[in-house]
Amino acid sequence: MKALQIISSISFILLTLLKFNVFMINVDNNIVHYLFNASVMLMIFSVIFPLVSYAKLKNANVEEERVLNQILKKIDPTSTTRIFVSTKTLKNNAAALYRKNNMVIVVGEKLLHTLDEKQLTFLIAHEYFHIKKNHLMKNVFSFIFVLSGVPIALLITTPIIGAAVPIVPLLIFAVVIYISFFILHFVFSRRREFQADQFARSFVEPTDARETLTKLKENKLVDEKSFSLLATHPSIEKRISNVN
Ligand SMILES: [Zn+2]
Repeated sequence: MKALQIISSISFILLTLLKFNVFMINVDNNIVHYLFNASVMLMIFSVIFPLVSYAKLKNANVEEERVLNQILKKIDPTSTTRIFVSTKTLKNNAAALYRKNNMVIVVGEKLLHTLDEKQLTFLIAHEYFHIKKNHLMKNVFSFIFVLSGVPIALLITTPIIGAAVPIVPLLIFAVVIYISFFILHFVFSRRREFQADQFARSFVEPTDARETLTKLKENKLVDEKSFSLLATHPSIEKRISNVN
């Protein structure tokens, strides 16, 4: 994370200078524009997000929880991830947040009282898998790639293809490519949720996994997105059939 903060800060400064013509290089202005956007997004993720995350943790009045930490030790004895319980805000949620450049798991007080030990195991294993596999960073990079990398690739390739192909099919081709990558981003993001559920399921019985997800739904502890194509999380029903 430290390295990423340094890289994103340097590239942000360089691209700001380039964008506002403080100095010039022989690169298309549109490409500079998309590179600048990418550096802004990277800055937000590596510098602003950990700060907001830290403020959120302070605000949530978190306390380290012994029982939950013991559950995590059973899932992975080598884990150094810490678990906190939030008593003020984030009461209904479980999430992986940044605490000084390290990711921690935060479990809402209400969840802690709603779920039994097996169900908490499922919940913690799910969040732990996201941390272990760097899912947040993967999601952010894939999002930045779609919003900046794909347009840059199209800016470079369309003039070359354009010499042989008329403008209308070329535009349709560019739009289709762009939308496909956008949808792919969300498909991969939802797949990571299924993988986290699969990992979590290996520590409990399938019924525990089902019951946890059902309880989350019944108590409205997770938000359900209506438009599934662009949702980062799959619906609870799909997650329940995935753990069966
Ligand atoms: Zn998740």
